[in-house]
Amino acid sequence: MPRQLEPLDARIPSWERDHFGERPCPFCQSEGSDRYIRPDGLHVCSCSTCGCYFISPSPSAADLAKFYATYYVDHRGSEYQQYKDPVLVGEMFALDPHSDIKARTLASLLHLKGKRALDVGCGMGQNLLFMKKLGADVTVIDLDHDSVEFTRNVLGIQSVHRQDIHALPDLESYDVIMLHDVIEHPLDPLAVLQKSKVLLARGGLLSIWTPNASAVEAEEQPVAFRVDLEHMQYLTFQTCRQIADRLRMTIVYLEAQGRSKLKSIQNMSAQTKKRTTKRFLRGLFRSFPGFVQLNAMRKRLVSRDDQSGNYHLFCVLRNEMRA
Ligand SMILES: [Zn+2]
Repeated sequence: MPRQLEPLDARIPSWERDHFGERPCPFCQSEGSDRYIRPDGLHVCSCSTCGCYFISPSPSAADLAKFYATYYVDHRGSEYQQYKDPVLVGEMFALDPHSDIKARTLASLLHLKGKRALDVGCGMGQNLLFMKKLGADVTVIDLDHDSVEFTRNVLGIQSVHRQDIHALPDLESYDVIMLHDVIEHPLDPLAVLQKSKVLLARGGLLSIWTPNASAVEAEEQPVAFRVDLEHMQYLTFQTCRQIADRLRMTIVYLEAQGRSKLKSIQNMSAQTKKRTTKRFLRGLFRSFPGFVQLNAMRKRLVSRDDQSGNYHLFCVLRNEMRA
């Protein structure tokens, strides 16, 4: 029997059940076993072959597109307005790339000066600013109109396009491709990974940052399956190894790190818990990538990023062109 998960994220989508479709594991096509029922009613299956967790049956591609359209219209426009505050934009430009684990790890694996980087789904653009500071020549693609407009008009980046990765010509060759907060979204994540591989230069790096499902079995109510309910799959360390084999790439960096907000609540005393939970739920309602990034940014101005915890999975693969 799948385990029913309690609501946590205030944003619970209502999906069109008539349009649901069964899907096998999106990474290895194996049949999954039904493990959890998310607060939005979608079932989370586990794949014993590659270790991933995935939604099946899933909403249709058209319904997901509709969800994102509403999501952007309802939330993102006003969010970007707040980011137009010149002080905040100044903070973004001022941040040291080495304060961010993703940027400093990529910089440690590859001398980025003069290298071509592709940021897929750039969000508020902090990753691309870091890459630029490290000397990379950055191209940005994002499907979100507001994100593209913000990146171009506020951050002043001209090499940004409202485009899907599949629309890029195969002849493009990048030294770094960033899929940060991306691979958990599409119904066919393997196609995105395969396209990334095609676009990578020899020795190029594929950087994946996504919620970590490696430790969910230890949780009674896994947090990862109760927030951001638009996510269609969750990776584990095992999935990363399977992906590396499938793409014939080499894992050069793999770790879980960072804390969820829930963990900090659980660690608090009962007295402050109630008040904090209220604030936390309010925060979650606004916890879109931009807000998360902004809060992280502010924290980084006074301290280095938190490397404890295991909430995020960070995997870097190198394109060795193995036979
Ligand atoms: Zn699988």
